[in-house]
Amino acid sequence: MSKGKIAAQKLMNECGIDDPTEFPLDLIAFGRGATIIEKPLGNSEGRIVFGKKKTIITINSDIHYPSKKRFVLAHEIGHLEMHRNQPLIHNDTDATLEYFKSGNQETEANEFASELLMPESLFKKECKGKKFGPDLIRSLAERFQTSITSVAYRYFEIGDHPICLFYTLNNKVQYWKRPDNYPYFIIDRTKLAPPDDSVAAEFFDKQKIYPKEQSKQQIWKSTWFVLHDRENDNDFKFYEYCIITPAYNTVLSIVWEEIK
Ligand SMILES: [Zn+2]
Repeated sequence: MSKGKIAAQKLMNECGIDDPTEFPLDLIAFGRGATIIEKPLGNSEGRIVFGKKKTIITINSDIHYPSKKRFVLAHEIGHLEMHRNQPLIHNDTDATLEYFKSGNQETEANEFASELLMPESLFKKECKGKKFGPDLIRSLAERFQTSITSVAYRYFEIGDHPICLFYTLNNKVQYWKRPDNYPYFIIDRTKLAPPDDSVAAEFFDKQKIYPKEQSKQQIWKSTWFVLHDRENDNDFKFYEYCIITPAYNTVLSIVWEEIK
């Protein structure tokens, strides 16, 4: 089990929390010795400063979505629980809250936040037997009061249906993930533009953002994956759902296959 997950479960046990949506996060932070303030932070989303007497968590008051604020606060509580005084300041931007990075304190804080906001057993229960798609991701985000993006990563890790993730910034693919043992191979486009026929490309080329009810778009297997000689694109049903953040010029593409 990851260090972040262990720390989150320990915190929940000690505070007697089963369902994190039934308990205000700021009270948890307060109970663990931090003071929370909200103020504009420019490019940062959150920050924790370990002082001699007091620990202060600051959340950027310009964050529009309460669900995102919640994720940032949970991330800072992760630093509070796991990284006290080392270093004295964590300054969190969209980059440190980015889930694809691995093997450092930021990953640990993200794993912590993910487990605290969406405990594995509860999350699996909510996914069970439900068809994968944008509606499910949105309803999970509502259920757990957290951001759509954090739900997408969580679903990737422990959801019922295999999905692949592609993260594109400024029209360049930065990272991608496929489940272990996934039967298809991804065409590596790291540092390149997303495929011409992808939904991500429609945003970068034409600023196209689909309305909610059309956010599940059919694509070809060959859009993101290797299509072998004897395979026919028409034999596959792949879809792409893009979570677009225009303010950061980022797209998180969720790609999955529907099997009858
Ligand atoms: Zn951090």
